[in-house]
Amino acid sequence: MSLTKKILIALVLGVITGIGLSLLPSNIFTGVDTYVLNPVGQIFLNLIMMIVVPIVFVSIVLGTAGLGDPAKLGKIGIRTIGFYLCTTAVALFIGLGVGLILEPGKAGTFDTGNASYEEEAAPPIMDTFINIIPENPIEAMSTGNMLQIIAFAVFIGIALAKLSDKTSGILRLFEQANEILIFLVNAIMKTAPYGAFALIASAIGDAGLDALGSMLMYMVAVILALLIHGAVTYSLAIKGLGKASPIKFYKLFFPAMSVAFSTSSSSATLPVSMKMAQERLGVKKEISSFVQPLGATINMDGTAIMQAVATVFIAQVYAEPLGISQMLMVVLTATMASIGTAGVPGVGLIMLAMVLKQVGLPVDGIALIIGVDRLLDMLRTSLNITGDAACAYIISEGDKRNEKDKTEETA
Ligand code: ASP
Repeated sequence: MSLTKKILIALVLGVITGIGLSLLPSNIFTGVDTYVLNPVGQIFLNLIMMIVVPIVFVSIVLGTAGLGDPAKLGKIGIRTIGFYLCTTAVALFIGLGVGLILEPGKAGTFDTGNASYEEEAAPPIMDTFINIIPENPIEAMSTGNMLQIIAFAVFIGIALAKLSDKTSGILRLFEQANEILIFLVNAIMKTAPYGAFALIASAIGDAGLDALGSMLMYMVAVILALLIHGAVTYSLAIKGLGKASPIKFYKLFFPAMSVAFSTSSSSATLPVSMKMAQERLGVKKEISSFVQPLGATINMDGTAIMQAVATVFIAQVYAEPLGISQMLMVVLTATMASIGTAGVPGVGLIMLAMVLKQVGLPVDGIALIIGVDRLLDMLRTSLNITGDAACAYIISEGDKRNEKDKTEETA
């Protein structure tokens, strides 16, 4: 049976088991979760997290060295960031639109009196930019600071390309390290169906279905906006800009989406999403290894959608309707927030506080959506990494076309 099929079965079984467990007495769920689901899920999560930093570092060094010319990297960088910013803005407009049409904040009664949310400090956005260049690359690796690792790897890659006649030994070392990491990703992916099953059953069993209640409309609004963005925005971009088939893209990329769904972490999914992009979609290695790690850190369209719908929802619950200028402010701050959101579970909600504050809505409103956020996090993370892969695919297809045109010209 193919890996895709196995993961699909694991997803369905995980959801069914999770719902089943949530209906049983809570001590049964706690026992099964503590001794079976949680250990299996965590071991899988640790296995993939274990290779994220080495794989990002090694593949960006190789990718940059492979591009040779830093100007080409600059061009790819500009296209990537342009794509990321535009699609995030579109995602936010979709989220706002769906929220305004479905009015989830008017679809039930909400206890705002008891809602209180202890705000966690969100990192100031300017710090994210200033700290892109690491003071200490070893510390960046040990703390998994993705942007800093990317910056350091790009510098090393450029140096390797410039010094190619003197550093071929090191380059070979990186190539061999890459082989080892690819071998490990392949081995770890064989355990994905079991890990995904355990993580999903645990998350759904824990959240339970009674949390849904009057939040159902909010969930429907977020899910609908995620689907529209995935089915329309990315499909149009893949067709229009990449001149490729969106159906083929989704079919081949699906295993990575399901790992994102089960882990709720863009960073943890990175080794798998790069593998799917390079091996199944044929994205050039030097493009995938730069575009996808960057996207897993700064491009979060699914998170942006949740933030837009949540802002509209909270505005409706507190009967403080948003004006046009406030909505534009949501687009601006949520785009910034999605850049600063780390690719780990639940951070999107922390960053939402920043958006709410900016438009003068009560941060306590977040307390209303916390209960259902874990489930939505699974879905939005799948969209987050899909946006990164779509961008890598489009840029790579464009690059291939350019190369073909050039060879035809010279022929
Ligand atoms: N879990 C998301 C991710 O890793 C971030 C978030 O929205 O909380 O992409």
